[in-house]
Amino acid sequence: MPTQTSPNLVGASRAEIAALLGELDPRPYRAAQVYQWLARRLAGSLEEMTNLPKSLKESLARRAVICDPEIVEVRRGEEGTAKFALAYPDGTVVEAVAMPMEGHTTLCLSSQAGCAVGCVFCVTGILGAGRNLSGGEIFGQYRAIMRREGLVGTSVNVVFMGMGEPLLNLPGVTRAVELLSETVSPRRITVSTSGIVPGLAKLAALERRPKLAVSLNATTQEQRERLMPIAARWTLDELLDALRSFPLERGRRITFEYVMLAGINDSLDDARRLPRLLRGIPCKVNLIPLNPDERYLAGFSAPAEETISAFAGVLAAAHVNVTVRWSKGRDVAAACGQLRGGIPLGASAAPSPAPTRS
Ligand code: SAH
Ligand code: SF4
Repeated sequence: MPTQTSPNLVGASRAEIAALLGELDPRPYRAAQVYQWLARRLAGSLEEMTNLPKSLKESLARRAVICDPEIVEVRRGEEGTAKFALAYPDGTVVEAVAMPMEGHTTLCLSSQAGCAVGCVFCVTGILGAGRNLSGGEIFGQYRAIMRREGLVGTSVNVVFMGMGEPLLNLPGVTRAVELLSETVSPRRITVSTSGIVPGLAKLAALERRPKLAVSLNATTQEQRERLMPIAARWTLDELLDALRSFPLERGRRITFEYVMLAGINDSLDDARRLPRLLRGIPCKVNLIPLNPDERYLAGFSAPAEETISAFAGVLAAAHVNVTVRWSKGRDVAAACGQLRGGIPLGASAAPSPAPTRS
């Protein structure tokens, strides 16, 4: 019988599966078959692996498990948006969101259970640090949702915009991207970061390089530090310099996310400063009106629609490609900055130790 500590085949590389198969069947194509069942066809059990001999499956079942996080709650909102709470065997709970779009579904996955970056407008950040998720655990969110929603074989985009800071968990995110790439082109995967500068070079060096989104959220160093404490460690200038030299494939652009907070970063002066900051970076700007939260984000609100339109207008006039993301899923607290894992709504905010510079 496999034990709680038996290795999980979900998230294992081909080489790791080969090592596990060992003397059971050392032929390389066997490991490749198992890998494909898990990473490509998203099989949920050994029984589903119909081209493996029964005896091999029985032996494998004694030394390994196939374990995805359990979907413990689904909340469905308007326009088909669904938010999932997913529980891992150690009790950690994270959230992920599925949003039907035209011609595809966008899945928003969590890279960490919590976030130590502590942005003041983000519920995940306010609730504080959690643990890193392994590549298999992140990929497990995808597998569980794809199967539950009947999406296997359909066109999906993946964004790392759920709980956590992907570039503070590069090993997990790298492995997850590798696994996802079996069914989702890296061009359809986006990693969003708050601006962990050393992580950018590492991301750029990946063989399967996903698209990059950067949460900018401010147009001056002072304002950014107030909103995103991480900006004190890696300044706006440092970040923009790193992005200017970020290698982009032909036609690719960096997406800048800009959460709009009424009276804080929504002035026309901000709008005028932004194009100057972004000069020299092939990019587009995504304006995200704040998703409010009465309990945790009491001091913040989204600007009025006219303010947002005027802001977008200034950007457009400066030839910046700009879109406004009227968030999907606000009605089920599934939108950005509202993911809080298994923490009950009444829980008090946990302290958020600041990440160290490495
Ligand atoms: N940690 C990464 C990815 C997860 S956050 C990052 O910060 O980029 C994903 C996006 O949600 C970020 O762009 C962030 O700015 C945005 N966000 C956070 N809180 C929000 C809120 N309350 N309303 C709207 N967007 C929010
Ligand atoms: Fe973390 Fe991103 Fe939220 Fe900031 S916005 S606290 S980096 S999840």
